[in-house]
Amino acid sequence: MISERERARALLDQALAEARSQGAKRITALYFVTYGASQETEASLRRIVQELSVNTLAEGAQIITWKGPNRFICWNCCALRFESEEEEAICPNCGHIAARIPTDITFALDRIEVAESKLREEP
Ligand SMILES: [Zn+2]
Repeated sequence: MISERERARALLDQALAEARSQGAKRITALYFVTYGASQETEASLRRIVQELSVNTLAEGAQIITWKGPNRFICWNCCALRFESEEEEAICPNCGHIAARIPTDITFALDRIEVAESKLREEP
């Protein structure tokens, strides 16, 4: 299993590559979506990204994490899969209680906000 730090580094690299491809001078905000992560895990993700971003375009960027929906599967009707914000969910097709699909704790880069140029105008 990949460690949190390696995962955070990969996501930061992805964000930096995206910023460079946009010709950005710096990243002002990083948005991450998390699945199955506790608040402590989210906090440690933010801390690790912050540490790793020193001396990169993302230094000083705001780091925002938000929870993705839970995923469910219904075994009563053709294994329908769906997503829900709830901890328990009813299958929208047949009304039976659906089983939560256990997810590995995962993070993904959602989007970044960048500053396209330095604030100071060239003379
Ligand atoms: Zn169903």
